Amino acid sequence: MEIRITKNDAPKQKPDENNLGFGNYFTDHMFVMDYDLEKGWHDPRIEPYGPLSLDPSAMVFHYGQETFEGLKAYRNDQGNIQLFRVMDNLNRLNQSNERMCIPTLDVEAMFQGIKELILLDGDWVPSQPGTSLYVRPFVIATDPFLGVRPASTYKFLVILSPVGAYYKGGLNPTRIYVEEYYVRAVAGGTGFAKTGGNYAASLKAQVEANEKGYNQVLWLDGKEHKYIEEVGTSNAFFKIDGKVYTAPLEGSILSGITRNSTITLLKDWGLEVVEEKMTIQQLAEHHKAGRLEEAFATGTAAVISPIGVLGWQGEDLVINDNQIGEVSQKLYDTMTAIQYGKVEDEFGWVIQL
Ligand SMILES: *Cc1c(COP(=O)(O)O)cnc(C)c1O
Repeated sequence: MEIRITKNDAPKQKPDENNLGFGNYFTDHMFVMDYDLEKGWHDPRIEPYGPLSLDPSAMVFHYGQETFEGLKAYRNDQGNIQLFRVMDNLNRLNQSNERMCIPTLDVEAMFQGIKELILLDGDWVPSQPGTSLYVRPFVIATDPFLGVRPASTYKFLVILSPVGAYYKGGLNPTRIYVEEYYVRAVAGGTGFAKTGGNYAASLKAQVEANEKGYNQVLWLDGKEHKYIEEVGTSNAFFKIDGKVYTAPLEGSILSGITRNSTITLLKDWGLEVVEEKMTIQQLAEHHKAGRLEEAFATGTAAVISPIGVLGWQGEDLVINDNQIGEVSQKLYDTMTAIQYGKVEDEFGWVIQL
């Protein structure tokens, strides 16, 4: 695949690596590809990062037909750039596309676009400990048309954002509100797809949880409002009596790549992992009986996020004295060591660019 490159002749000043935060800065270029019925996906190109020109009637603005992914590129100790499980993200983008009636893309073509874009903007990959380059591929429906149907024209884009260390002073346990009214997804819906509407629909619960003094919500299932699903935009794990529990993939939860890496590592360490439904009531009973040893959430942004408190029915259930659990810390240390190339990658998760 030949990628046309138009270089940015006004590159930006790079931000301070010690104050990047998350999602605030964007690099000098973006990757773009178009779709129409006649040519399919075509015209792969790298252009200066900048505003898009879209018709106000572009379907994505009205009916939300779009999908996205999130992964990271890391600078290793040799100064080279490496990606973590990128092919899994690209395959998942196609699963989301399939659900949203968006034409799927060739995984190799997407990978080549991401690779060439990152290499062109390679100076933007930060090197301070804990920093990385966040990669955001996404697809939008662009037909200038009002009416609910799948579009016939799309754009695939990749933008890059240098991001800071999520945890500055070690892993911080979070306060999580158990949401019993609002729901995120139902079986048969779009919960397993990374599509904007899921996140728009989640804002209200998040805002209300923040107002109550919690960082995030724990979602329960959409039908009976009792089975544990996810924490915000991350998967949830609970260590109970030595075994680690997480919700099964049955269509309403997102199949997290960090979730999968977590399960793989835990099993490799000889721990039993149970992918079974659990009610919030059962979890509270385990907590009361002193069997809930650790709770944590997993996702690309924070990798492992320990849960210190679960707010449920007016009570705060404190987990592991609001301290980071041993397994949570070991998962974080191991996963980040693989991502930054500090230990051998036994699982074939890393691709060097
Ligand atoms: C992206 C996401 C996750 C985490 O997936 P990773 O691949 O581990 O980053 C979990 N839940 C939801 C709802 C998400 O959007």
